[in-house]
Amino acid sequence: MHIIIIGNGIAGSTAARYIRKNSDHDITMISGETEYPFSRTALMYVYMGHMKYDHTKLYEDWFWGKNRINTVKAWVKNINTSDKSIFLDNGQNLNYDKLIIATGSKSNKFGWPGQDLQGVQGLYHMQDLESMEAASKSGIKKAVIVGGGLIGIEMAEMLHSSHIPVTMLVREESFWNIVLPKEESEMINRHILANGINLRLSEELLEIKGKDGKVSSIICKNSGEEIACEFVGLTVGVSPNIDFVKETCIATNRGIWANEYLQTSAEDVYALGDCVELSAPNPGRRSIEAVWYTGRIMGKTVAQTICGVPTKYDPGIWFNSAKFFDIEYQVYGDIPAKTPEHITSLYWQHPAENKAIRINFETSTGAVTGFNLMGIRYRHAVCEKWIADKTHIETVIENLSLANFDPEFFDQYEGEFVKMYNQKTGKSLRLKSRRKLSKVEQFLFG
Ligand SMILES: Cc1cc2nc3c(=O)[nH]c(=O)nc-3n(C[C@H](O)[C@H](O)[C@H](O)COP(=O)(O)OP(=O)(O)OC[C@H]3O[C@@H](n4cnc5c(N)ncnc54)[C@H](O)[C@@H]3O)c2cc1C
Repeated sequence: MHIIIIGNGIAGSTAARYIRKNSDHDITMISGETEYPFSRTALMYVYMGHMKYDHTKLYEDWFWGKNRINTVKAWVKNINTSDKSIFLDNGQNLNYDKLIIATGSKSNKFGWPGQDLQGVQGLYHMQDLESMEAASKSGIKKAVIVGGGLIGIEMAEMLHSSHIPVTMLVREESFWNIVLPKEESEMINRHILANGINLRLSEELLEIKGKDGKVSSIICKNSGEEIACEFVGLTVGVSPNIDFVKETCIATNRGIWANEYLQTSAEDVYALGDCVELSAPNPGRRSIEAVWYTGRIMGKTVAQTICGVPTKYDPGIWFNSAKFFDIEYQVYGDIPAKTPEHITSLYWQHPAENKAIRINFETSTGAVTGFNLMGIRYRHAVCEKWIADKTHIETVIENLSLANFDPEFFDQYEGEFVKMYNQKTGKSLRLKSRRKLSKVEQFLFG
């Protein structure tokens, strides 16, 4: 059986690895971006000189050949589902028995005047990094970033590391406040400003102006102000990268429609990762989840199905992590930006440093539902287990030291959290010492 995978990101490459683990099928993995899989989340470190491109590769180059995963660097132009073939931009036609589409995302553009001028770009693909490096070398006196999400703040940090003054336009009245609760969002506003970025909240892009085909300024929509700049980063979200799939008979909406087995409307065709739109996502989950770890789970899941063990996609408990300059952010479970009525949200923030812990729980039962961490890292397995087991908030609070990665600090942070809880409730909970963990707990939580 010949399995073709279009896309070698985390979704496609995980599928390839697990199909190889579970079978002897022929595997061809195709990408027009790079021959070998790399970590997209590390692009910023390449720009900033902390890593070389080779360090971002998921495996050494020999790994794929040794595991009989045939890699092809080409763009797929078309898919013919009736004769089960695909057509590449190098003129080749390939036949498949099973096809996996894992083509990821592309940066959004919303039709602004001037959005195609030289010096205007998003940040998603390796080619974006290359053009950003070239633009920086050619001399940018000032840059503007449009959009206040995770990629926007990374781009701001990258340009700032090259000593390029950056103005950031964010439509909302506080950074990423459609995802972050008020306190965390405000912490990031302050941190962006403290890092020397000119953060303009409640401001949008009206148009981009150019001279000789290159960007020369932007006009702000609300203030009408014109800002001179040689570079504009468009970071207003991403959407599934499926233009060529829309030309085929495979059903699409915003993404490629797929059922819980990640099967598309076409026989023997599967879709994974950022490009898929689930027709029936789990309750509380979105139909498109463009994050690294869901791509990895989907890759493993589809490999099982293709290798004869039909397996439904189960995303597990929501998890995401990112970095806002040097503030690490982690979320486990459900932490809505606005706390619903049936949920109680406990929030502790360090008085002087950018560190915060938020724990949400169901008011009626006490079952813990989510964790938000800023500047403090908690163990994935511990938080996941507490949420999955609907552990009572007071049990969680007393055992918080189990979750902290830095035993040196848990007395300080978690101790403060317990103190806050006791003050709010009049109780006298005590933080259990990590050193008194039972053998079973040590086994479970590491
Ligand atoms: C700068 C940046 C930072 C990020 N940080 C985080 C983070 O901190 N945490 C997190 O969870 N997520 C993060 N993400 C998102 C995460 O990287 C993506 O969710 C993930 O990489 C998607 O994986 P994928 O395998 O679905 O697709 P992709 O990684 O996009 O891989 C798809 C591949 O298919 C190729 N392709 C597309 N069309 C074709 C075609 N027609 N022919 C051939 N090849 C094709 C693409 O070029 C690409 O190489 C970040 C993304 C970016 C850009």
